[in-house]
This record gives sequence, structure tokens and C-alpha cells, in this order.
Amino acid sequence: MAQTQQDVLKASKEQCIFCKIISGDIPAAKIYEDDRVFAFLDINPVNAGHTLVVPKDHYIVLPQLPDDLAMHLIKVVKYLSGAIFEMTGAHGINIIQNNGAAAGQEVPHVHFHIIPRIQDDKSIGPWNRSKIDPEKLKQIAEEMGKNLKPISSSTVKLSSNTAVSKKTSKPKRKGKLVKVKRRTSTNSP
Ligand code: AMP
Ligand code: ZN
Repeated sequence: MAQTQQDVLKASKEQCIFCKIISGDIPAAKIYEDDRVFAFLDINPVNAGHTLVVPKDHYIVLPQLPDDLAMHLIKVVKYLSGAIFEMTGAHGINIIQNNGAAAGQEVPHVHFHIIPRIQDDKSIGPWNRSKIDPEKLKQIAEEMGKNLKPISSSTVKLSSNTAVSKKTSKPKRKGKLVKVKRRTSTNSP
């Protein structure tokens, strides 16, 4: 029988390390908690103060979150990023949120990274950016715009390619991403 989205969520929840941290089964350096959100320090920090902010309910990727939970989560991310700016004396902060192994997600529970940065710390590498013909850009925007459903009716259906664990088999490469020419410059994100 085909696995439903609910089956996928349930199976990933049972082994989820962040759910175990939220329930107190695994220790963590907690810095914030309310009824829906939990925040703790990353065990492998990019810089001191690197914080993870997670919803207490188990969802794998951001588009699965109910709107009210997503709004509350981002409110906490905003609040903590301001506090972390002040507490660490950071010159900048990266907010990073990975969805799917292809995007670097290792833990299958939605989370935001708040990463304090110091000028020229080079602790996060440059993005591999590309050049694109403006006409092509317009064409892609039109195509994407046509396929957008109204915001009030937005739901997400994950494709089988959205594997999270790097240990799962590699998805077949049949994505629709448009090929673009790589730029050689090394701009930071
Ligand atoms: P991501 O690659 O976006 O899925 O990030 C997952 C993050 O979770 C990584 O930066 C890990 O260092 C962090 N992490 C994994 N296990 C723990 C843990 N037990 N306590 C704190 N952070 C963790
Ligand atoms: Zn979880």
C-alpha cells in the first residue's frame, strides 16, 4: 500500500532527535521555550551562540507547517536573532533553514539556524551563483507565477525526491530546475 504523507511524518517522528530533545529524553542547551517553540544551541556550532529554533510539533519541512505555527515560529526567530545580536556582539547573523537532503537538511524536523557572524570570519562558504539571461528570468517568473495557487489554499505535497537523511537512496535526477551558467566570482550569501 502507498505511504501517505501522515505515514511519512509518523515514521520520521519516531526516530527524531529533536523530538527527543523537546521531550527531555536527550539533553540539550536550551535557551528559550514556550508552548509551541523550543530553542537550543547547536551541538556543532558554526560560531559561538549558533542556535536552533524548532516547533514542538514534528514536521519535516517548512511548507508543511500550519500557518499560525509558521507565524509564531518566525516571530520567535526574529526575537531570538535580535537577542543573539546583542548577547554575542555579532556583526551579522545568518538565518538558515534547510529543507530536504538536497538542500543540506540532516535532521528531519523543521528548524531555523541562527548563526552569529563576525566580519570576515569566513565560517560559511560563498554561494555558487550563476548568470542568467534576463529574458530567461522573465520566462521563469511567468511560468512560476502561473503555477502559484492562492496563498489561502496552499498545501504541500512532498515528492519522493525530498528525502532528508543522506543515508537514504539518492533521488533520481529528474528535477525541473533550469540550467544556468555558473559565475566565477565568490560573493558571500
Ligand atoms: P541541518 O543540517 O539543517 O539538518 O542541521 C541540523 C543541525 O542539528 C546540525 O547543525 C547539527 O549540528 C545539529 N544537531 C544534531 N544533533 C544535535 C543535538 N543532539 N543537539 C544539538 N544540535 C544537534
Ligand atoms: Zn521531530
